[in-house]
Order: sequence, then C-alpha cells, then structure tokens
Amino acid sequence: MNTENALRTIELIRCAGQAVSAYGTAQRSVREAHDEHSAALAQLNHWNHHIHTTGEGDRASPAHTALLAAVHEHQEAEQKLHKAEARLKRASVTLQAHRPTLNRYPAERTRRSSTTVLLDRMADYPVDLVRAADLIIIQTSAGKDSIVAMHRTVAAAKAADCLHKVRAMHCDLGTAEWPGVRELARRQAERYGIPFLVVTPGGGFLGMVENRGKWPDAQRRLCTSKLKRDPTGPVITAWVRELGLDRQAIVLNVMGVRGAESASRALKARLTLDTRTTSANRLVLTWNIIHELSEQEVWQDIASNGLEYHPIYDTGLPRLSCVYCVLAGPDWLILATRVCFALELPLPEAYAALERRIGHSFKRDYTLNAIIAAARMLDALDGPVTWRHGDALRQHLGPAAADQYLATLTP
Ligand code: SF4
Repeated sequence: MNTENALRTIELIRCAGQAVSAYGTAQRSVREAHDEHSAALAQLNHWNHHIHTTGEGDRASPAHTALLAAVHEHQEAEQKLHKAEARLKRASVTLQAHRPTLNRYPAERTRRSSTTVLLDRMADYPVDLVRAADLIIIQTSAGKDSIVAMHRTVAAAKAADCLHKVRAMHCDLGTAEWPGVRELARRQAERYGIPFLVVTPGGGFLGMVENRGKWPDAQRRLCTSKLKRDPTGPVITAWVRELGLDRQAIVLNVMGVRGAESASRALKARLTLDTRTTSANRLVLTWNIIHELSEQEVWQDIASNGLEYHPIYDTGLPRLSCVYCVLAGPDWLILATRVCFALELPLPEAYAALERRIGHSFKRDYTLNAIIAAARMLDALDGPVTWRHGDALRQHLGPAAADQYLATLTP
C-alpha cells in the first residue's frame, strides 16, 4: 500500500467535504440575508407609503423617525446580503476546485467510509505509517497500556529509522494521581531517548471539581476532555510550528487505548482522522496502536521487554488512573482507599472534605464517605492491604514470569 497516496486521498476527501459544508452554510446565509432584506424593504416601502398618503413627513413626527430607522435597516440588510452573496461565490469556486474528488466520492457517507477503509489499511503497515509522518506524539499516562503503546511505537520508528520524529507528552492531573506517576512517565520516555513534555492543566482534577462544584461522571467526562484532550491542541500547534514545514505536516497522535477495555473503546478504530485538530497545516491521525491487544498480551509485552510499570498495579488495582476515578466501581474505590491507608496518603480525607464542601456526591448512588467507611471496616476485619513487587505479573502471567521479570530489573 502506498501510504503517501492514501494520506493525500484522505486530505482531498476531507477538504472536499469541508467545501461541501461551507457551500451549504453560505447558501443558508444567503437565504437568511435575502429574507431579512425583503422584510427591511417592506418596512421601508410601508413608511414611504404612509408618509406619502398621510402627509406626516415633518422631521419631528414619529413616522419620520420610523422611516429613518427603516432606511438604516434596509442599508444594513443590503450590505449583509452582498456579503453573503460574495461568500457564496467564493464557496462555489472552492467547490468547483474539488469537483474531481466530489465526482468520485459524491455522498458524505461514501467520503466517510472511504476514509475509514484507507485508515484501516494504513494501520496494517505501522512502519510505513511512521515513515510518512512528520511528527509522532505519544500521549502517555505512564500506565501499562501507555508504556506498551510507547514501546511498540518506538519499535516501528526504529524499524523506519525515524526515532527522531517521536516525542512523548504527559498530562499531570496533580494530587489526584498516585505518587510517582509523572516521574515514571519521564523515566519511560528516557529509556528510549525521546523528548518528554509534561503539561499541567491549571488546578488539576481537584481544582476543576472545586470550580464546577460538581464531580464529572461517565456521561459528562469533563475531566478527560478538559484536562487531557484540550491541552493537546496547543502542544501539537507548537511542535508543528517547530518543524518549519512549507506543506501540511502529518502528525500521529498515539494513544494506549484498547478495545477490550470497554464497549465504547471496542467501537474505536485503530487509526482515525482527528477532524477537530486537523487543519490546513497539519493532518492529525489518532493512532490506537495497541487497540487489538488483550490485557494478558499487554502484561506479556511488559514482561518480555522488561518495561517498568507503576507499583500500584501490584496492589490489584486494574488501572493507573486518578486514585479515585469517576468511572470506577465501588470495589475499585474501596481498594484504592485501603491502598491510600497503607501508603499513608491524605487523599481520602481530602476528597471527602471536597465532597462535603461542594455538596455533590462523588457517585450518584453513594458518597466517598461511605467508601471510606467500608474501607476502614475491611481494614479492621482483614488488616491493611499488602503487596509485593511483581504481584501484577504473578496474577496475569504466573510466578515464573514474575521472577524472570524481576531478575531482568536487577542490575
Ligand atoms: S482517570 Fe478517571 S477521574 Fe481521572 S481524568 Fe480519567 S476518567 Fe477522569
């Protein structure tokens, strides 16, 4: 497959689609401006006729004032109509320029499905993909999926002799995260010698909740959009500018998203066009490079390649997310609280205090206070939770794999 040609086709289809929608918008603007102009003209004619028939034309009369207002409105409506017509003319020229592409991909559905097919085929050739890219950004949370995504991206980049294109970016959510996450993300990037950038969205997760007076939830996951997605745009802009290209840059935005994680993630494709971030100077593709891996395969990659993972996985917690993730179930939240007790972290009290302050329950069906009480009760019954380095690998791959992994870490 010729990746460069595929990318060019995707961009042509995208621009043709934009031209169609710009033309549609311009047509609507002309219709609206036309209606406004007709209404203004009717008013003008009305007051002209009124003055003519009643003779109430002296400067102090209400009819004269109304006539002046109608003249003014008519002039404004005329200007608006001229502008809208000029815009429609420009949109029509652009549309004509895209006619060859539109003849080939006339319907929006065809354009969308053709793009999807091309992207899916490109995902089968990661080395070619990396070769065609100008910039490869790995979004890392430092979690197990991120580190495997990073490892595989770097492997493809090395195979293409393109490691210089790869950079890593980490969004630091502040005290809401487990200790050591930022430092681990840095070490993981350093292992491959790739530039590493930390973005700290103002206020972090807890600041965002305090300001809103509400916790996010599965339906309104503002935390991911505000704290993780939104900071990415300016970074891409700055890094693309640094490239100094006189053509559109091809940017790969690598994520450690796996289909097996959830039903909504299963619906995601391996490679998608990021229409929100793409512009004339950059074509941004989201690359879910480990989309097809199972959890077992992720741990296998970690073990076989001696990748450093965060000790929180050894406690039995499945994800290195915020300590209290709004998507987590009660078992997960209780275990996270017990781990906080074991590590003497003040986070449970801080969250419970925030919950009281804003008067909004962390979860719809229960409060964090209830979670903390349950965690205390279990600690009292069973004693504090304990864990050993390598427990995550013992659980997923067995004791031999864990021993082998730990031996590779020993200098
Ligand atoms: S880990 Fe959970 S709470 Fe934290 S930002 Fe992601 S979805 Fe939101």
